Amino acid sequence: MKPALATGSLWEATAEPAPNAPPLEGETHADVAVVGGGFCGLSCALHLADGGRDTVLLEAQSCGWGASGRNGGQLIPCFKDNPEDLVARHGPELGGAMADLGAGSGDLVAGLIARHDIECAFYRDGWILGVHSQAALPAIKERARQWQARGRDVRLLGRDEVAALTGCDHYVAGYLDPTGGGLNPMSLARGMAKAAQRAGARIHASSPAEKIKRAADGWRITTPRGAVSCDQIVLATGAYSGGLMPALRRSILPMQSLQIATEPLPDDIRASILPGDHVVSDTQRLLLYFRLNEEGRLVFGGRGATGGEGIKPAHLARLEATMRNYFPQIGDIPVRYHWAGQVDLTPERALRVHRPEPGIWTVIGFSGRGVAIAPAVGKALAAAVMRGNTVEFPLPVTPMRPLPFHAARRPVMAAAIGLAWLRDRLDRKDGGPPL
Ligand SMILES: Cc1cc2nc3c(=O)[nH]c(=O)nc-3n(C[C@H](O)[C@H](O)[C@H](O)COP(=O)(O)OP(=O)(O)OC[C@H]3O[C@@H](n4cnc5c(N)ncnc54)[C@H](O)[C@@H]3O)c2cc1C
Repeated sequence: MKPALATGSLWEATAEPAPNAPPLEGETHADVAVVGGGFCGLSCALHLADGGRDTVLLEAQSCGWGASGRNGGQLIPCFKDNPEDLVARHGPELGGAMADLGAGSGDLVAGLIARHDIECAFYRDGWILGVHSQAALPAIKERARQWQARGRDVRLLGRDEVAALTGCDHYVAGYLDPTGGGLNPMSLARGMAKAAQRAGARIHASSPAEKIKRAADGWRITTPRGAVSCDQIVLATGAYSGGLMPALRRSILPMQSLQIATEPLPDDIRASILPGDHVVSDTQRLLLYFRLNEEGRLVFGGRGATGGEGIKPAHLARLEATMRNYFPQIGDIPVRYHWAGQVDLTPERALRVHRPEPGIWTVIGFSGRGVAIAPAVGKALAAAVMRGNTVEFPLPVTPMRPLPFHAARRPVMAAAIGLAWLRDRLDRKDGGPPL
């Protein structure tokens, strides 16, 4: 089969239309200004407007332009940390609230989609975590035990079952959370923006927040052609945080994640891959993730470059070779789309919420787990902003911790990635075929 031209984002190509969100022109006032039109900022703006707050959202590009419109569209309703680890780290009240926020995030997103009639090709047939080696298995058994103890209907999958449910034989076991699912993330972002507008929020795309200054009775944010004065600010700029608050940008290690999507699979091949319509990610340090979309395209993701937006042909070629190794049944069916986005990794792979000044909230560090979690965090932030305090806020609020070696991060990250690759490879020797 002759390869089709591989280009662009599948989600962008198949998304619902963008909302009408003209750039900010001139001076305006709001109770709250939210900066960043990804899942976190959009959910925050929606819940603020629902709560009766006059809300302006500033987005530098367009809603969903960042990680929210480019991700794998896998709804995974939990933090990466196990609930008992969260409790051990933050105490029973805060740790328990974090675990609950994660566990409730899938229902929150499903509820938003239903309540606001958001067309985003949403299905909810479960998330599988593929276990890539025997060495990784005890931690996953422990994860299952902890969530089962909290009453969640998760379970372990044996080698044959995970092979049957995924259509590939690379996993020694699996972990199934039936409350996970898949969706078109760009459509979800756009639908959330439209819902926020209907609730009364004013959304301005092509409006990068350039400066934040203290004003007589609050704050003033300037954009190229306008300004918002406001009482409170929420910065939800994720991996795309720029010079607005340099210390925030310096607290993450932006990491590119790359995806490819094939032409729609013929029925016989499609029947052999993810027959139960699960979405999958795995336990490798350099994780892989895959799913089908509603047209039957196989969407397959993995790591890209350690910095910058550009996609390296070598990374693309390696990802495609890995996909064909995992799913030899797709033969030479061509890849039709490829695209990439930046993940806001923190060194500890945990979310960071800060209040650097009275009236300013920042959130960063979803670390690749944000389709369900970021809308839930946006809602929690909206509630905290409306209350004006952190009482009952379900996340730790910490001082900002910019990384000292940030300017030199690329060689450090490249070395860490090389080590992770090696460890994944050594792990796979004790189970699963080598790549
Ligand atoms: C390729 C990839 C695959 C992923 N797959 C999954 C997955 O399958 N499941 C999952 O749970 N998570 C996944 N994630 C993670 C998830 O996408 C993110 O955690 C989530 O989208 C973060 O949302 P956010 O609102 O914090 O940030 P973003 O969506 O990145 O939004 C930040 C926005 O802020 C804007 N901005 C920045 N600076 C300014 C400024 N000065 N003024 C105005 N606007 C500004 C940007 O333009 C951007 O639109 C993936 C991430 C990537 C990159």
